[in-house]
Amino acid sequence: MKKTILPLLLAALMLAHGTAGAWGFFGHRTITQVAVYELPSSLQAFYYRHMGDLVRQSTAPDERRNDDPTEAPKHYIDMDHYSEDNPFGKMPRQYDKAAEKFKPDTLKKYGTVPWVVMEVKDNLTEAFRQRDTTAIIKYSAELSHYVGDAFVPLHTTINYDGQLTDQKGLHSLWESQLPERFINDYKLVGEPAKYVKDPLAAIWEVIQQSYGFLGETFDRATKIEKTMKPDVRFTFSHRYGKTSRRYSDAFADAYEKEVGGMVDYRLKGAPTLVSSLWLTAWQDAGKPDLNALMTPSKPTKEEKEKLSTELSAWKKNTLAQDQLLLAQQKVKKVETADEIKSAKEMAEPAATEAPEGVPASAPAPTPATDKVKVKTKGKDGSEKVKLKGE
Ligand SMILES: [Zn+2]
Repeated sequence: MKKTILPLLLAALMLAHGTAGAWGFFGHRTITQVAVYELPSSLQAFYYRHMGDLVRQSTAPDERRNDDPTEAPKHYIDMDHYSEDNPFGKMPRQYDKAAEKFKPDTLKKYGTVPWVVMEVKDNLTEAFRQRDTTAIIKYSAELSHYVGDAFVPLHTTINYDGQLTDQKGLHSLWESQLPERFINDYKLVGEPAKYVKDPLAAIWEVIQQSYGFLGETFDRATKIEKTMKPDVRFTFSHRYGKTSRRYSDAFADAYEKEVGGMVDYRLKGAPTLVSSLWLTAWQDAGKPDLNALMTPSKPTKEEKEKLSTELSAWKKNTLAQDQLLLAQQKVKKVETADEIKSAKEMAEPAATEAPEGVPASAPAPTPATDKVKVKTKGKDGSEKVKLKGE
C-alpha cells in the first residue's frame, strides 16, 4: 500500500508548493512569526501561545488556490492595467467606488488584494468581539498572508513573473529563492505595532511603494543578463515527466547583490503592518482580555523563557543563524529533482510552474515611482513593453 500512496502524497505536496504565491511559504511564515514579536504585551502572550498554528495557517490562502477558483485574484492587484502613467491617481481607494468606475468583473480579473485585506481585518475584529479563538487565529494568519503579498512589488503588475520582458521566473527568484538563500544576511527587526487609524490608506500606501520598486526589480535583472550568458542563468529540473526552469544560484547571487536590500526591506516592513492591524482589530473590538481565552490563562515559565530567547535573537538578528525561524524547520524534504546545471544540454522547455506572487528589489529602499516597466498595447493591438517615464 505504502508504495502506491507515497508518490501520490509527494505529488500533492509538490503541487501545493509549486503554486505558492507571494513570498513563498518561507517568507509568509517568517513575516507571521516576526509580527508576533512586534506586539505589545496585552496581545503577545496569546499570540505566542498560538504561534505554531498562526505560522502554519499563514500559507493557507496559497494552499487553497488550486481548489478555489475565486482565491487567486485576492493576492495581487495589477495596477498597470488601469493606467501606464498614473494608476494610483485613477484608482479609487474604496471598493464601491472602484467597482463603479471599473466594474466588479474587471477588479476581480486584475486583483483585489487591498480590499481583501480590509475584509479579513473586519473578520478578525468580529472574531475578537466574539472571543472566538479559532477564528482569531485563522483571520490573523490570513491577514498576515494578504498583507505580506501586498509588500511584494511583482504583485502589482501584469508582468508579475517577468513573462512579458523575457524574464520568466523572476517572481519566485525574488520572493522565494532570495529570502531562502540569504535569510542569514537579512535584518528582521522592524517597528513595534501601533494602532492604524486608516487601514485602507495604509494598505494602499504599501501597494504604491511596491509598485514603485518595479522598475528596479526588472532593470537590475536586465543588468545581470547583459553580462551573464543564458546557459548559466537558468537551472532546469525534471519531475514526473515535466520540466521546469528557474534562475540558477549564480543568477540569484548576482541578483541578491542588486536587489537584496529591497527584498529585505519589504520582508522586514510587512510584519510591522501585520502586527499593527492585529492590534487595530483587537482595539476596535473593545480590547477583549485575551488572557481569559487562554488555558492556562498566564504564560507558563517555559513559554516566557522561550519567548525571551527568541526576542533577544530577533533583536540581534540571529533568528536564522540560531535556527529559531519556524519556516526553517521543514516538515520533510520532499524530493530532490535531478538538476541539470546548464541549459546547454537541452532545448528550452516550457516552464511548468507559474508563480503568482510579487517580488521587487533594490539595494537602496527608494521606490522609483516614475520609472516602471509596463506592458502597453500598440496601435495595431500588439503588445509591447516600455519603460514608464521614458
Ligand atoms: Zn499569496
